[in-house]
Amino acid sequence: MNQVFPIDIHTHQLPAVAGKAIVSVSPEMFTPQPSHWYALGIHPWDTDKITDFTAKMEKIQRLAHHPQVIAIGEVGLDRLHGTSIPEQMKIFEAQALLAESLQKPVVIHLVKATDELLFLHHHLNPTVPWIIHGFRGKPQLAQQLLKRGFYLSFGTHFNLDAMRSTPNDRLLLETDEREEDIEQLCQALALARCQTNEELRQSLDENVQRLFFKP
Ligand SMILES: [Zn+2]
Repeated sequence: MNQVFPIDIHTHQLPAVAGKAIVSVSPEMFTPQPSHWYALGIHPWDTDKITDFTAKMEKIQRLAHHPQVIAIGEVGLDRLHGTSIPEQMKIFEAQALLAESLQKPVVIHLVKATDELLFLHHHLNPTVPWIIHGFRGKPQLAQQLLKRGFYLSFGTHFNLDAMRSTPNDRLLLETDEREEDIEQLCQALALARCQTNEELRQSLDENVQRLFFKP
């Protein structure tokens, strides 16, 4: 059987075609279906609902070894939701270290906490890719993150110049919460980048294979 590689790197629902997307789930919701891919982690919005952090991390640790779990996520920092930022940093750090030990990429939710994330990146100096999902920031922020080695994943809404200034080999695509056709999104991005759909599609495929399926 041929393996299907995902093109949509971040969604919360199972794609119509198994394997076409990476489905982000909490450890409690992880019930792997045949041929689907998953990212597993504590969403920053859920960080104020944790009763036993050690038990929770043990559970994630156990489940994240599953071969269909190809990333840790979505995890991250959100100044507007969840527990305090120092607590969120601690929770993020534990999961980033797990990602490092498993050599799986991290899919990151980031809202108004760039300095804190850059601090953690500097402090942990990860070897696995850190991907900012749903990137909507300005070109300056994009450049700052790209210089530090981050990958940027774009959905329906984004800053046009930031998206255009992201090189092919750092770019990823996602639908997140939306009922969006990923192929249409790909076409729209290709048009905005003055690339053919095939060119963009090839870079995205290469990125996904290099990041999530390295032998
Ligand atoms: Zn999401």
